[in-house]
Amino acid sequence: MPLRVATYPVGSFSTNAYVAAAEGSSECVVIDPGAEGARIVAAIRFLGLTVRFILTTHGHGDHTGGAATVKRELGGLYVVHEADAGQVARPDDWIVAMLPGFEQPPEIDVKIHGNETLRIRGLDINTIATPGHTPGSVGYFCEKALFTGDTLFKGSIGRFDLPGGDGKQELNSIRERLLTLPGDTVVLPGHGPRTSIEHEIRSNPFLQPGAIDEPR
Ligand SMILES: [Zn+2]
Ligand SMILES: [Zn+2]
Repeated sequence: MPLRVATYPVGSFSTNAYVAAAEGSSECVVIDPGAEGARIVAAIRFLGLTVRFILTTHGHGDHTGGAATVKRELGGLYVVHEADAGQVARPDDWIVAMLPGFEQPPEIDVKIHGNETLRIRGLDINTIATPGHTPGSVGYFCEKALFTGDTLFKGSIGRFDLPGGDGKQELNSIRERLLTLPGDTVVLPGHGPRTSIEHEIRSNPFLQPGAIDEPR
């Protein structure tokens, strides 16, 4: 079933919050409501959608800071990879300090590990563990769309110099688990414009052979 995706750049880091639903279905998932929860809630109400899951690509505060409002107002199960659960429950002070209006994320309802399938009406969403940017970074793959969080961007990859980051692991995750998806998969990153797997294989400077020998 074709997928509908709405994108809302939110907060001081312009994090992409996504609302995804199967065409014609009233059930949706929200991916990374990172800030401006009230604005996301208003958009979902306008679309007339019911929230089933609130999905987190990783535990950084710019991806979690609006989730509490969305869950309180619209419900849905809050989904986080187990390895980032601690960071979600106790956000780093330096991140919170950079995010005016940050709200403590809600209790985690579902802890995932990768290779799960989350089902909503008309849509199967597969979880792909992509450790590196953070230990619990996850990609969500459904209907030829891939939500990559801060692991893979158009023309770039996620920084791996933050606590818990690992550059070699990040490149392995991207090469083995993301670039192996069909080339026409649409990549919807946590910041910036969308791209495709094929485009990144051809032109992303960080993914060319020998681009990065040692993590920073
Ligand atoms: Zn991040
Ligand atoms: Zn981010």
